Amino acid sequence: MKRRGRFAPTPSGLLHIGNALSALAAWLQIRQADGEFILRIEDIDKPRSRPAYAEQQQDDLLWLGIDWDEGPRAGGPHAPYEQSKREELYEDALQELLRKGRTYPCYCSRSELASIASAPHGLSSEGAAYPGFCRHLTDEERAEKEAKKTPALRFIMPPEPIEFLDGSSDSPIRYDGDALGDFVVKRADGMYSYQLAVTVDDAAMGITDVLRGADLLDSTPRQLALYEALGKQPPSFTHVPLVMSESGERLSKRDKSLTLASIRDGGAQPERLVGAIAYMAGWVDRLEPVASRELIPLYRTPRQSDGPFILTDRLLSWI
Ligand code: GLU
Repeated sequence: MKRRGRFAPTPSGLLHIGNALSALAAWLQIRQADGEFILRIEDIDKPRSRPAYAEQQQDDLLWLGIDWDEGPRAGGPHAPYEQSKREELYEDALQELLRKGRTYPCYCSRSELASIASAPHGLSSEGAAYPGFCRHLTDEERAEKEAKKTPALRFIMPPEPIEFLDGSSDSPIRYDGDALGDFVVKRADGMYSYQLAVTVDDAAMGITDVLRGADLLDSTPRQLALYEALGKQPPSFTHVPLVMSESGERLSKRDKSLTLASIRDGGAQPERLVGAIAYMAGWVDRLEPVASRELIPLYRTPRQSDGPFILTDRLLSWI
């Protein structure tokens, strides 16, 4: 069986150099293994997503030399590759979790949740761990709340610690269920959560290798718990170090000058951007222009201990 990897951008903005490093690493890992690469558009959050960004992201990836065997523009057996068109699958998975008693309705308001988020513990990509207020409501309390508010649905995290191997780390990574908290699988407004959609899609698309940025590390134990609850085989996970600016900040979609679109507009050649990324990631020893496909034999998985990668001003001006 061929290994299958993917890049799964959210089209709520433009791709920046940090996204390019993750995309390139995911693509190189799979191309080196002669596997299949899938592009998936994670536009589950419709109000925040724009088709124009999705198109631009695809143009930018192709400009970088990253191609895909399945996905938008390419098609494939798992079409559609846009999450906004795959909601039936998420609903099926949700129904399965409901049947198995793995969820509960949560009536907490934004302000109640905000008071937890400001607590000085457990900050993560999901916000602070939810302490389970609505988990132990009596039937009466639940009925009373139900009359006033449509609930969100939360997945019950197993109490046992979750341990996994990460392709970028030397030792196993371990999380306590309590520290992560029960997380939302469907919001009160009807939106399926990232955690549910990504797990259902990676499983449905037969992804064997998830490689993504270290900012999503604490999503992995949550997704592993979902794989277990849905009776699916999880992929292997690799979380590559993030790219930081020289002043130590994470690159963000808001920082326009570091987006691929603006670098292209400035007239840069893709080989220079790829050369700078390859140098940062340690795939080459010298800063020189290189095409993505030339890196296929040179690729090695970036280690957590190598990072974060610093995008120095010198590197930026070289591009
Ligand atoms: N859509 C997510 C993002 O753009 C990435 C999902 C993933 O790689 O698991 O941050």
